[in-house]
Amino acid sequence: MKLAVIEGDGIGREVIPVAVKVLDAFGLEFEKVPLELGYTQWERTGTAISSDDLEIIKGCDAVLFGAVTTVPDPNCKSVLLTIRKELDLYANVRPVKPLPCIIGVTGRNDFDFIIVRENTEGLYSGIEEIGSDISWTKRVVTRRSSERIAEYACKLAKKRKNKLTIVHKSNVLKSDKLFLDVCRQTASANSVEYEDMLVDSMAYNLMMHPERYDIVVTTNLFGDILSDMCAALVGSLGLVPSANIGDKYAFFEPVHGSAPDIAGKGIANPLAAILSVKMLLEWMGEPRSQVIDEAITHVLQKKIITPDLGGTASTIEVGNAVAEYVRKNI
Ligand code: ATP
Ligand code: MG
Repeated sequence: MKLAVIEGDGIGREVIPVAVKVLDAFGLEFEKVPLELGYTQWERTGTAISSDDLEIIKGCDAVLFGAVTTVPDPNCKSVLLTIRKELDLYANVRPVKPLPCIIGVTGRNDFDFIIVRENTEGLYSGIEEIGSDISWTKRVVTRRSSERIAEYACKLAKKRKNKLTIVHKSNVLKSDKLFLDVCRQTASANSVEYEDMLVDSMAYNLMMHPERYDIVVTTNLFGDILSDMCAALVGSLGLVPSANIGDKYAFFEPVHGSAPDIAGKGIANPLAAILSVKMLLEWMGEPRSQVIDEAITHVLQKKIITPDLGGTASTIEVGNAVAEYVRKNI
């Protein structure tokens, strides 16, 4: 197993080393390939991600990624979009699950669902024209991409409650009719129970009745917005992990960005990055990944928490406590 480790910028440089320590505590055979990408790299070399970097990444099985600060040059290739495209990471997966002792904005902790977002097309097709009087972006929905994201969502549903919610806006956006039809057909073919919801209604329902959902599948922009909104259900941006999955490669990252306002202070919450390591272990089929949940429960109960959760512990203190628990309990 070869793992590219990209700390990136800002708090990425603080949370990723801590997450790697937790990964090391499992004592698995990993070849780690550190890569310098992002804003700092752009300042030094003029490129945030080079073709050599891409070749090195393609020689790995998976990527653990921190965060990169957006480069102000519009001609500079986006690190995230480039990797997503080159590795064909078509499924963006975000589990939304409460953590012990932490209560999010709605005050509830009875939900446990996964947002599966189509990651390659929709309104993020990159096909657009910018003018002074009219600008437009093409929203692309293809049968192939809709089918593979629906297949992926159904596979997850089968492992859980066998329940799929298809989120769309096909009453207004006719391109979504194809997405909806393909998702329905795929769910039927896989004997997965399904319902569909308009995205606006879904936003409301996710806040009011988050316990109703199991697997939520949707197009690129809707998934982007809904999944950030759902970080509020959990309680902090510092707690939510994500995975970008393709048929060959997978890429794991905390949902938060590089948070320049707190970077360098040693107070960033590393739990989102640590939970991203858990998703990596699950993707590898490692049966002991569950120990990470126990370790996190342990640190939260002992109030070894960073300032965003009202504590005084540092990034490293939280990371060490999690890693030590894992070491002792696997
Ligand atoms: P970027 O441009 O890289 O996305 P940003 O300024 O948008 O950076 P985010 O990382 O998206 O910052 O986070 C938004 C806010 O949430 C930050 O101001 C930060 O204080 C807080 N935050 C994000 N991640 C964490 C974390 N891991 N621990 C504590 N606070 C965090
Ligand atoms: Mg941000």
